[in-house]
Amino acid sequence: MEEAACFQLAQRMTSLQPSATLAMAARAGAMKASGIDVIDLSVGEPDFPTPEHICQAGKAAISAGKTKYTPAAGTPALREAIANDYTRRSGLAVTPAQVIVSNGAKHSLHNVFTSVLNPGDEVIVPTPYWVSYAELIKLTGAIPVLVETSIEEDFKLQPNALKSAITPRTRMLLLCSPSNPTGVVYSREELVGIADIAIEADLSVVSDEIYDQLVFDGRESISFPTLRPGLESRSIVVAGVSKTYSMTGWRIGWTIGPPGLSKVMGSLQSQETSNPCSISQYAAIEALTGPQDCVTLMRNAFQLRRDLVVERLSQIPDVKIPDIGGAFYAFLDIHASLGRPHGPPDSVTWCEQLLEKEHVATVAGSAFGAEGHVRMSFAASEEKLTMGLDRIASFLSTIQ
Ligand code: PMP
Ligand code: GLU
Repeated sequence: MEEAACFQLAQRMTSLQPSATLAMAARAGAMKASGIDVIDLSVGEPDFPTPEHICQAGKAAISAGKTKYTPAAGTPALREAIANDYTRRSGLAVTPAQVIVSNGAKHSLHNVFTSVLNPGDEVIVPTPYWVSYAELIKLTGAIPVLVETSIEEDFKLQPNALKSAITPRTRMLLLCSPSNPTGVVYSREELVGIADIAIEADLSVVSDEIYDQLVFDGRESISFPTLRPGLESRSIVVAGVSKTYSMTGWRIGWTIGPPGLSKVMGSLQSQETSNPCSISQYAAIEALTGPQDCVTLMRNAFQLRRDLVVERLSQIPDVKIPDIGGAFYAFLDIHASLGRPHGPPDSVTWCEQLLEKEHVATVAGSAFGAEGHVRMSFAASEEKLTMGLDRIASFLSTIQ
């Protein structure tokens, strides 16, 4: 059907790309539904069921009739549970008024960008970056300034690179540690170096800490605002239950930020979406205040899978990875296998061919602003990972 001219798209929508991670997951799902044995290592989604006690809390909420509107920014009980959990784990006291609960952390990021950014403002985004950052920033008319990092530096933003990217229009810095898509975790010293530059340049900092509880080998989980006194006045932490509690479908994420900005984000949400799902909010209270052994169990399982993936990838020629300290991603440098006479020319074609020939779904590095790489999620069983890695090795051996 040809659409009427009155539906000509708003200018800000003309360059909007769909989420490459979700697009690849949908494609793998469709192939599976048609009977093809696809190993899906595309989307970043824990493969564990949501822990039973959390599901029970959701069911109890329905039975108790908690199925009506709640305050737009979340119920007082959930905001308090989030504030208490954060204060306990980070050591930095925050109040429920600083917490805005949204329909997933993706929505929280939208709230932050919409509330703070003006057209033409610059936001520094280290690459590789999670797919949605650049698109959500561009929707506000602001400009994502992509700052490259390299595998030699474990894909971490270097202080000098940050300094050189700052202009009079820079308003914000976006950080993600543990990182999606690289799995690398910044050390305290590295973060302090960045924090000092942000303070000196008067930048706001959005710290995406959604993987904060998925750190391996006893690494510290560090929340950005705790690094220097007063940093909390210029920082917004983004987090949620999706990854820590395997609750991706429940859609609960949040921001912890200065009270004034939080109030504005609550108003935005009251106009755009009203409250996040009431039932999910009750489940999230149970997640945060109930037994936490499920978090340890899942973290340990991810660490074992990380070990398996690192071991297997180290045996495959032509692939390099950084030091994976958290989250559940391996970000493969595939430069060595690109551009051969009969091989794929770029990461998109590499992923296409891997899917077509070996039925393994991954996501092209170009979607994360890092051509020459491919992301594989290791949020899959050891059996699936072993099969997937066998197939990746077989695929690479055929590229001539
Ligand atoms: N930030 C990062 C880095 C992510 O990987 C994700 C995964 N979807 C999100 C935010 C958003 O998570 P959700 O909307 O499921 O809470
Ligand atoms: N964050 C996950 C990923 O990167 C989920 C998909 C998405 O939200 O884009 O795969």
